[in-house]
Amino acid sequence: MSRLKLCSYSCVYCQLGRTLRIEAEPRSFYKTEGITEQVRTKLKRATDKGALVDYLTFVPDGEPALDANLGREVEVLKTLGVKVAIITNGSLLWREDIRENLRKADWVSLKMDAVSEGTWRKVNRPHRSLKLETVLQGMFKFAQAFEGELTTETMLVRGINDDRGEIKSIAGFLALLKPNKAYVATPTRPPAERVTPASEQTINAAYQIFTERLGREVEYLTGYEGNAFACTGNVQEDLLSITAVHPMRQDAVSELLKSAGNGWETVRNLIENRSLAELEYQGKKFYMRKLPVHSLPQSQLSKDKIR
Ligand code: SF4
Repeated sequence: MSRLKLCSYSCVYCQLGRTLRIEAEPRSFYKTEGITEQVRTKLKRATDKGALVDYLTFVPDGEPALDANLGREVEVLKTLGVKVAIITNGSLLWREDIRENLRKADWVSLKMDAVSEGTWRKVNRPHRSLKLETVLQGMFKFAQAFEGELTTETMLVRGINDDRGEIKSIAGFLALLKPNKAYVATPTRPPAERVTPASEQTINAAYQIFTERLGREVEYLTGYEGNAFACTGNVQEDLLSITAVHPMRQDAVSELLKSAGNGWETVRNLIENRSLAELEYQGKKFYMRKLPVHSLPQSQLSKDKIR
């Protein structure tokens, strides 16, 4: 059962289900004052309990840029003394007013799943008024002027946007955006349609291609909480924690094992119990934490109506 959401996309992997009302024109939803008061109360409750709040993040049921008051809301929330983050699909950034709204945030994440028209229509299923070229130009303009922290998120779905050609083209476009960090992701919770996450092999290849092309930080989001700097003293836990965020090359794994006084049987055990995957990219071996198991059949995809 889908919750009602408003979005300019209807992504095949959306965890909120299909977009029943697909819209591309921003409008007002809430009174800014009401939101500020609610957030102020919750923030106080959290900090009273000793919680450290780094960011207030706009993650609505749908696309936050569709809220015409977003810029004003960001401004008033920033008076609470906490940074503001927005997770957006970026599809409306071709509009000056939307770029202006998002520019006020401290941290913005843009969705970047495809740069070829057919693939974009299959994976993001945009509102019929949107054109890919205009959307990409809008993202580029935004990235050039944005002074906060910019990140991107690329969700890879098997058989839809996970071929090497598309991944290389996405990497080329990301190199123009110059994000502070690029995330490679794959659906890890039950999505809108019956889709299958990209394989570990593909996630690793995307990670390597993005890293080579962008020359900056790349991480993956595959549903595990990872810590790339983990050092718990338990080498198995450290390996799983690090490889939940990025793949490790064979020589880096050897170093880690050596520093803990362990041998390769640690890795062999993790592979045998299906916690770790051994992958190859350009003749080198890499290790990555296995994706959570919830692959779904793809039979539904051919029946999907592409908007
Ligand atoms: S942009 Fe986000 S909210 Fe909108 S359909 Fe895609 S995943 Fe769902």
